[in-house]
Amino acid sequence: MNIAIIGGGIGGLATAVGLHKIGIKAHVYERAGSFKPLGAGIGIGSNVMLALQKLGVAGDILKSAMPLTEQRFLNGKFQVMNSIDFTLLKKRFGEENITIERADLHAALFSAVDSRAFHFNKKVESFNQSNEHVELIFSDGTKETLDYVIAADGINSIFRKTLVPNSLPRYAGYTCWRGITKNKDDVTPHISSEAWSKKGRFGWAPLHNGDVYWFACINSEANHPVYEGFSKEDVADYFSFYAPVVERLIRETYDDYFLHHDIYDIKPLDTFVYNRICLLGDAAHATTPNMGQGAGQSIEDAYELMEAIKNTPTMNDAFKQYDATRVKKTKKVINLSRQIGWAAQWDNSLLVGFRNKVFPLVPKSLLFWRLTFLFK
Ligand SMILES: Cc1cc2nc3c(=O)[nH]c(=O)nc-3n(C[C@H](O)[C@H](O)[C@H](O)COP(=O)(O)OP(=O)(O)OC[C@H]3O[C@@H](n4cnc5c(N)ncnc54)[C@H](O)[C@@H]3O)c2cc1C
Repeated sequence: MNIAIIGGGIGGLATAVGLHKIGIKAHVYERAGSFKPLGAGIGIGSNVMLALQKLGVAGDILKSAMPLTEQRFLNGKFQVMNSIDFTLLKKRFGEENITIERADLHAALFSAVDSRAFHFNKKVESFNQSNEHVELIFSDGTKETLDYVIAADGINSIFRKTLVPNSLPRYAGYTCWRGITKNKDDVTPHISSEAWSKKGRFGWAPLHNGDVYWFACINSEANHPVYEGFSKEDVADYFSFYAPVVERLIRETYDDYFLHHDIYDIKPLDTFVYNRICLLGDAAHATTPNMGQGAGQSIEDAYELMEAIKNTPTMNDAFKQYDATRVKKTKKVINLSRQIGWAAQWDNSLLVGFRNKVFPLVPKSLLFWRLTFLFK
C-alpha cells in the first residue's frame, strides 16, 4: 500500500511512527526545508502518554519530560482558586502528565522512523482524487500518485480547505505570547499554574532541564497592529500587574523562544474521511490550547489510525473505524476547550468577581471527572 502523510508536525510524525510500526512505509512530505518545531514548551496529558506508550516512544519522551503532580488555578492576586491533582490521574490511568520542549518531542518522534521516509521542501500545491488514486502536485512541479493520503498539514490545511471549503479557522478572541526562561528557583518543580485576571491570563510550567515554559493571553481583535509588534519587554510591562515572578519570566525569555500567535480553532467537522484522503491533527480538529490537548489529540489520532489499520481488512474500513472514534472525541475537546477559554478570558469585573467566588467552591472531584472522557 502506497500512503503519503502530508505535514511533518507532531500529528504527521506520530502517524509515521504508527504506520512504520505496523510495517507500512509511509512517506512524509513537509513543505519546510527541515524540522523547526514551532513553539516553546508543550503539555502532554496522561491520556496522550497512553497513546505514546502504545506507539512505542513514551520511554524516550519521558527522558526529556517534567512530570506534573498538580495544575493550579490562581486569581489576579495570585491566590489559588482551585487545582487538579494529576497524581490521581496517574493512579487511575497509569501515566504521567508532563511538560516537554517541543523540540524534544519532535526529536523523539522523528528518530523512531527511518529517515528515508522524510521529504523536505515538498509543499503540496494541489491534488486530484479519483476512486483509485490520489495525485499530489507539489510546488516544485513534481507529482506523486498514492493509494491513500493522510493530510496532517495543520489548521490551514489545503486538503480541508478544498474538501470542506466552508471550514475556516475561527478566531477565539484572544492573542497569545509564549516563551521559555530560566527557572531561578522561583517556579516550583512538578506544578503547573495559570493565573486569571480581567487584564489577562498568565500560565507557566517547569521543564525538566531547569527552564520554565510560560504563556500569556489577552483579549484582542485578530491581527491587532499594536500587539503584533509587542516585544518581550512590552509583554513583561503589560503583565507586571501580577506577582514579580511573572514579569521576570517574560523579561528574561531566551531570544529564540519568544512567540506570538492569535488563537484559532475550527468548528467540529462531521467526518475526517473523504474517500482516499483522511484528515488528521489540526487539519481535522484544531482546538484552542486551553486544555493542552491539540497536539495530544493528533497523537491519539495516530494511535487510533494504526489500530484501525491493524484490526480491519481494508483501508476503507480502517478509515471508517478511525472516523467513528476520533470525530466524537475531538468534538468534545474543541467545545470544552473553547468554553474554558471563554471563562478564563472574562474581562468584565462582575463576571470575574463571580468566577473568583464560585470557582473555589467547585469540588476537585468535578474538575477531575470533567477530564475522564479523555481516557475513553
Ligand atoms: C499557544 C498554543 C499553545 C499550545 N499548547 C499545547 C499544549 O500544551 N498541548 C498540546 O497538546 N497542544 C498544544 N497546542 C496545540 C498544538 O500546537 C497543535 O495542536 C499541534 O502542533 C498540531 O500539530 P499538527 O501536526 O496537526 O499540525 P502542525 O503543527 O501545524 O503541522 C503541520 C505541518 O504541515 C506542514 N504543511 C502545511 N501545509 C503543507 C503543505 N501544503 N505541504 C506540505 N507540508 C505542509 C507544516 O509546515 C507543518 O510542519 C498549542 C497551540 C498553541 C497555539
